[in-house]
Amino acid sequence: MRAVVFHGPGEKSWDQVPDPKIDDDEDVIVEVDSVTICGTDLHILEGDVPEVAPGRVLGHEAVGTIVETGVGVRNRRVGDRVLLSCISACGRCPSCRRGQYGLCQGGGGWLFGHLIDGVQAELARVPFADTSTHLVPDGLSDEQVLYLADILPTGYEVGVLNGHVEPADVVAIVGAGPIGLAALVGAQLYSPRHVIVMDPAEARRAAALRFGADSVAAPAEASHLVAKLTDGRGADVTIEAVGIPETFEQCCTLVRAGGRVANIGVHGKPATLHLEELWIKDVTITTGLVDTFTIPTLLDLIAAGRIDPGAFTSHRFALDDAMKAYDTFARAAETNAMKVLMTR
Ligand SMILES: [Zn+2]
Ligand SMILES: [Zn+2]
Repeated sequence: MRAVVFHGPGEKSWDQVPDPKIDDDEDVIVEVDSVTICGTDLHILEGDVPEVAPGRVLGHEAVGTIVETGVGVRNRRVGDRVLLSCISACGRCPSCRRGQYGLCQGGGGWLFGHLIDGVQAELARVPFADTSTHLVPDGLSDEQVLYLADILPTGYEVGVLNGHVEPADVVAIVGAGPIGLAALVGAQLYSPRHVIVMDPAEARRAAALRFGADSVAAPAEASHLVAKLTDGRGADVTIEAVGIPETFEQCCTLVRAGGRVANIGVHGKPATLHLEELWIKDVTITTGLVDTFTIPTLLDLIAAGRIDPGAFTSHRFALDDAMKAYDTFARAAETNAMKVLMTR
């Protein structure tokens, strides 16, 4: 089969590699129908995720059709259309029993394109198939469910739920990439009074308005606008969706006393925590990797038409053009790429 293979920092190619095989009784093999690229894949290519070994097939967000099942798989059949969660779950360990699949101690967690071969490929081996895949309901397209693999649950769980967004809150989201917009989509489910989204790129601010932001701001105007919206108190919830020290520190500045800072960003460098200012403000700060336990809830909302994930797709490619898709996604500032969809 062909696949996007990581060859060390800065190096990748669309290579011929051996087909994946059933390795464990609970595995299935999936023919990949639709797949996308994540900002995390770019971090890997920059060398920020040293656990990813050269030779690894990249990618962790896909929808596909099961073509083979291990003898221990109970609830999946050849021919099933499935969404692959970016997080694999053994379903049995203490973390999985608490719904914290991202922390799975039974051999799951973030595996695809990280610790095992990923899904930017014609075929993929999927471990723990019963507890790590979701059947795609009839009537929903691949594109409607694909972003449930990672960005929608990440924005919702790590941003909105960790940040305890409540009705009438003023929510400030820093970063209007796919994750920031996914947090925006999730925050709107809770009837906030106002959601303001900050991003230096004008095209991304425009996207935030299309996704329902009440206002947008360039980073330099943010403090002033949040102060104006809240009589100087600060935002009830700030959501960090970038992953650099400046944006985390800005979230800690924009939050009100007693408010919540929910960090989603994947940080490669230490950020300064101004505890000397924050301690007396009763600020709650959360961080986390997604567990994807909300996929069924979000799938219901998509099926009911309450969330329209198709709006995330900015570019479409054939899977064979994966290198072109990477180039377009990596140059988002020029191409205005949001999510690039690759289909078989
Ligand atoms: Zn991702
Ligand atoms: Zn587990």
